[in-house]
Amino acid sequence: MINKKLTYLKEWLIESKIDCALLTDPENIAYYSGFKSEPHERILALAIFPSTDPFLFTPSLDMKDAQNSEWSFSVYGYLDNENPWSILSKKIQEATTSTECFAIEKSFLTVERYEKLCLFFKNSTFENVSEKIQEMKLIKDSSEIKKMIEAGKWADKALEIGFNTIKEGISEEEIVAEIDYQLKKQGIKEMSFETMVLTGDHAASPHGVPGARKIKKNDMVLFDLGVVYNGYTSDVTRMAIFGKPSKEAEKVYSIVLKAHQAAIAAVKPGISAGQLDKIARDIITNEGYGEYFTHRLGHGLGSNVHEFPSIMEGSELIIKEGMCFSIEPGIYIPEVVGVRIEDCLYVTKNGCELFTTTPTAFKSIV
Ligand code: MN
Ligand code: MN
Repeated sequence: MINKKLTYLKEWLIESKIDCALLTDPENIAYYSGFKSEPHERILALAIFPSTDPFLFTPSLDMKDAQNSEWSFSVYGYLDNENPWSILSKKIQEATTSTECFAIEKSFLTVERYEKLCLFFKNSTFENVSEKIQEMKLIKDSSEIKKMIEAGKWADKALEIGFNTIKEGISEEEIVAEIDYQLKKQGIKEMSFETMVLTGDHAASPHGVPGARKIKKNDMVLFDLGVVYNGYTSDVTRMAIFGKPSKEAEKVYSIVLKAHQAAIAAVKPGISAGQLDKIARDIITNEGYGEYFTHRLGHGLGSNVHEFPSIMEGSELIIKEGMCFSIEPGIYIPEVVGVRIEDCLYVTKNGCELFTTTPTAFKSIV
């Protein structure tokens, strides 16, 4: 059966007079087909047409899995010693009479692959479908939100494991290993991104990499993590303090928390992404820390941990019911202190609901 997502894309193909959307990004293929696979250097493709049935094109070794997935249309395969482009182009020509105009993911397809495609479709033009897909992914349906609620629960669980692991002398990477190991044992196959645990002033680096640094008394510890649950992601950031925070750390924390709460309270359909960023940024700026809030307020997430909408200064994008994004203000004073508090949410008719429920109150671990 054809799903709603495929129907929307087919409608766009008709409107735009495109003969075939040829997708090769495994994330997008999973979004439209329900079949998730990592093909590595091999070709995995989903071909969608305005009026005929779509098909999946996979390495032969993945064909059985694709046929047993929720995908109910044809699956074609190719062996490692065959030329995938020649077989794929034949299958496309069998499925559609016209191949004048293709839609491809210009932000994903490599130039090398694009050139191969051009060899078989010399007179075709190639439009970009990447932006359209991002736009479609903006609004999540209830089954997607259900998966994200589960992913959020697992992120809360991961934080709890992390908090319980903190003790004097344990290193950042040891805490990361413990979180990932405990979750793996409980069936979580994949994290949304590499689990981040940063201690002391190391947390002042928004994209810091956990290392051998050991926790000392009165260190603050930043946890930024998420899990993938049934193909959907979560993303949360909390701080814990091992002992007593410095006056400045406490002050910075309370400002970030205020910005976080104010922005979440303002989320509802009709407000713009730029207004949300401004609400949080004004609070931090008025307290004199504006120059240390060095990134946008938030990002969309779904099957990818970074999607549209971008919750950033100046954005006029209007927030709508069903959008899912993070609110994650931060203050990063190099070599002094770094604080970020992050929750992800989905927009409801009148406001929003958070995916994560770990309390945001300053968490002291003694
Ligand atoms: Mn985030
Ligand atoms: Mn995060």
